[in-house]
Amino acid sequence: MQLLSSTAAGVTVVTLGLTGTFAAPPAAATTTTYSVTHASDPYSGRSIAVRWTPCLTRSGVTTTTPISYAVNTGGDPSRVTLVQQALAEVTAYSGLRFHYTGKVSYIPHYAVLHYPTGDRLMFNAAQQRAATHAALVIGWASASKTNMFRGSEAGVGTVSWTGNSRSQLRIVEGAALIKLGVPLRAGFTTGTSVGSLLLHEIGHAVGLNHVSTTSQIMYPVLGSYTRASYQSGDRYGLRLVGRPAGCFVTPSLSPPDPAAIARAAGISVTL
Ligand SMILES: [Zn+2]
Repeated sequence: MQLLSSTAAGVTVVTLGLTGTFAAPPAAATTTTYSVTHASDPYSGRSIAVRWTPCLTRSGVTTTTPISYAVNTGGDPSRVTLVQQALAEVTAYSGLRFHYTGKVSYIPHYAVLHYPTGDRLMFNAAQQRAATHAALVIGWASASKTNMFRGSEAGVGTVSWTGNSRSQLRIVEGAALIKLGVPLRAGFTTGTSVGSLLLHEIGHAVGLNHVSTTSQIMYPVLGSYTRASYQSGDRYGLRLVGRPAGCFVTPSLSPPDPAAIARAAGISVTL
């Protein structure tokens, strides 16, 4: 997400086989109040909303499957509380549960896959999981410490998903990053507040895309019109990627690994 005074930044969408990752997509072309990504699920052959596993039903028994998350506070421990406030709002509207695993120093970033036709960015989900043992990392970082911020972006949120014929396609890894040094109001207030920015980037990290109406948190540019909580379209999108969409019946696969994908494709990769 950008601040109102910022210029638009480019966007890269990478889809590799049955795994996927997206950087924040551009604003929708038509007027919308919610937007989620659909992808073909190799397990069912159907197009489904890309989402996390809210719950798992095996042998007739349903268990809630909390999303483990870690926080990189960027040096300010009070940010853990801020993250927890934002996630509580996600839980209220999506039914997704979250489990805090602690603070980390790891900073999410993209791997760069060097194809002959040009470089492609891919969220380095496997490395993040190995370094943090969490499925979701929410953090603060300076622009010089990660390649996830494009241009003047104040924040970024991304996910990585995977599936195969034996395991339903779902998000397995996510990240939400706020850029250090951006002037933002404290807490959750209307306008350009860190709380609203956090809700937006975490929205991406649970599968929401940009919309074209300024009244929604998922509008791509933060301005005086920005609300301090998820609005009707945001809430509808959260239901589409949340527990109301149903439990999965197959276990998750490991997070997509750019290094393995590069090896299989016979190309080099910068991790
Ligand atoms: Zn965004």
